[in-house]
Amino acid sequence: MAFFPKEKIVCTENMPEKVEKNDLHLEIGIEQSGVSFVLQKEKKWKYDISLDGDALTRKNEIKRALYLVLQEYTNKTLPWGSLTGIRPSKIAYALWERGFSEEEIVLHLQKEYFASKEKSKLCTQTAKTEWDILKFLDLENSYSLYISIPFCPSRCFYCSFPAYLILQWEKRLEEYFSCLIQELEYIAQKFRHKKLYSVYVGGGTPTSVSAQYLELLCQKIRELFPFEEVKEFCVEAGRPDTINEEKLLVLKKYGVNRLSINPQSMKEETLQLIGRKHSVQEIYDSYFLAKKCGFEQINMDFILGLPNESIEDIAYSMSECKKMNPDSVTIHSLAWKRASILTIGQTYLNQFQDWQMHHSEKTMQMVHQAMQEMDCHPYYLYRQKNMEGNLENVGYSKKGKESFYNMLIMEEKHSILAAGAGASTKLVFFPENRIQRLENVKDVGHYIARIEEMIQRKAQVLGNL
Ligand code: SF4
Repeated sequence: MAFFPKEKIVCTENMPEKVEKNDLHLEIGIEQSGVSFVLQKEKKWKYDISLDGDALTRKNEIKRALYLVLQEYTNKTLPWGSLTGIRPSKIAYALWERGFSEEEIVLHLQKEYFASKEKSKLCTQTAKTEWDILKFLDLENSYSLYISIPFCPSRCFYCSFPAYLILQWEKRLEEYFSCLIQELEYIAQKFRHKKLYSVYVGGGTPTSVSAQYLELLCQKIRELFPFEEVKEFCVEAGRPDTINEEKLLVLKKYGVNRLSINPQSMKEETLQLIGRKHSVQEIYDSYFLAKKCGFEQINMDFILGLPNESIEDIAYSMSECKKMNPDSVTIHSLAWKRASILTIGQTYLNQFQDWQMHHSEKTMQMVHQAMQEMDCHPYYLYRQKNMEGNLENVGYSKKGKESFYNMLIMEEKHSILAAGAGASTKLVFFPENRIQRLENVKDVGHYIARIEEMIQRKAQVLGNL
């Protein structure tokens, strides 16, 4: 998919009966002595690879060979080489843990995965920041908490999160919060012997609900969980139009120490085009209001590759960002998520066809430069499927303002207990070096109706812990 963006790719075990004239057909054969590739039934490549290693090693060997074939055929190189995983920094992190030097890790990523020098350096430096912070934590005997408030004032076109329209759910919020609190009570009781390191309230946009509901939630969190070891209590206030002084003061009162206020772009037309339904002015207003209320760690998210945005538009967003000077900035590359209005619109309705999407390595470098000028360094990194330009998302931060939760979730070395509709729990079993995921149902109505089953799902896995 990275070599043939937006083409339909079909994988079959057997030869399809009919191959259309314009289709590209690649047959991959795994044999004892190696792997062979037959393209359009003619050209053949053969790579000797060892099939002795474990499944992961074999998979990587086959991917490397496939990468070389497609590179030759398309005459393209990919910035991340054969790396297709969501968390490339995990590879670099593991090498830091094992005592490799920066130079050795960069070389390893270039040689083993054909990643470019720039991406190898970015990945290595990001993992170093994570390693320098996380190595002092007792990850085995601690956990973090994720709470989902899946409501928003409107749905952004690129969104694939659980985000239900707040206006349609207002009457059922009482039921939702009551179920959420039941689930939190279960988690607090079950994990009472572990240290809580971070709390992340996400969604949706949690600040879509009233100050009264925020107070109810924060009060319960503080009542149920021990806060002595908590390093971060973060609330997503992503949509500037959901923030007011009353809500901010409630969050401050209960010890929220990190907020995320997300412009995505500082171009008025873009905000309207992508369904944000707030103005650029509201971004400034809510950011400075949060500053006035005493928040000392404010993050901002931006997306690159939004419709009709040129590199100059992104440069403008960055210069406005610099003026506001948030403590951390997360730069996303637009991802075409299957469930988003954007993808559905382009695929099925032929809408948005005249939109121009621009994103490239050059934009990424310009943004990286802007972040350096703000004294922000990369501290977490991840990739997604179907991203514009096949690039990455990078979290930048000023020194000492890195988000613990973001680093912990990326490196998968720590259990994250999640509550609420659409929330996904990740349990790390240290002795077996195993991760188990537990998903809650996404639909808010189903979550309310099936809350006992959601708790029971956790109880079945956590039974003896
Ligand atoms: S604010 Fe975030 S969660 Fe809500 S619709 Fe937009 S992208 Fe989705």
